[in-house]
Amino acid sequence: MGNTSKGAISMANESAKSAAQNKNIGPVILLGPPGAGKGTQSRRIVEHYGVPQISTGDLLREHVARGTALGLEAKAIMARGELVPDELMYGIVACRLRELDCRNGFVLDGFPRTAAQAGWLDAFLEKAVFENSQKCPLIVIQLLVDYNQLLLRIAGRRSCPTCGRTYNIHTQPPLRDELCDVDGTKLLIREDDREEVIAGRLATYETQTRPVADYYRAQNRLMAIDADRKMEEVTAQIFGVIDGHC
Ligand SMILES: [Zn+2]
Repeated sequence: MGNTSKGAISMANESAKSAAQNKNIGPVILLGPPGAGKGTQSRRIVEHYGVPQISTGDLLREHVARGTALGLEAKAIMARGELVPDELMYGIVACRLRELDCRNGFVLDGFPRTAAQAGWLDAFLEKAVFENSQKCPLIVIQLLVDYNQLLLRIAGRRSCPTCGRTYNIHTQPPLRDELCDVDGTKLLIREDDREEVIAGRLATYETQTRPVADYYRAQNRLMAIDADRKMEEVTAQIFGVIDGHC
């Protein structure tokens, strides 16, 4: 491709992006098992639309670090080895979603984890977080991946302990079997990516998040997307869903 057309495409992308940045997209939830590309797709939504990603794990850590009333309460509970109760999480989430940078939408990460939390979120959003802005309904996107494909994809991950470069023996293999292209070091499998560990992680994911997916599916609000495709194709479809819903 010549420089001119490349430049034209990048300018077109830039103007599509700046149009996207002024748009109210509303709240977005991505559901999908580990390895489905949820992290990558979230980052792309954040970048394209200029909305924040709200991670409940980060929020909790931040409140604890800042020593807020909610943070101190959460810290005491966690110190006893107990789970942070929903009521406390609601306070933390509500406080964050009322901040001004959320007025054009946001991507939720790690929330809701249960049907009860999903119900609370609906009630909260119903009360209109931003009174003046046009209300945009919640979008729930489920990234569907074939279980065996997923297992294969995760189990194929390798990394070089010397330079940190990552490979996948199925999709992105090194030139020489199990050796790093750069320095020839023997590639390693992360402990988390061992097949027996993955099977456990996926099973946990299934039991924990099925009720959330069921909650939205029962109300016809779950948009399922085939995520067994190139990242770019999945991203394009997600943007299409977001652009088309408000
Ligand atoms: Zn290396």
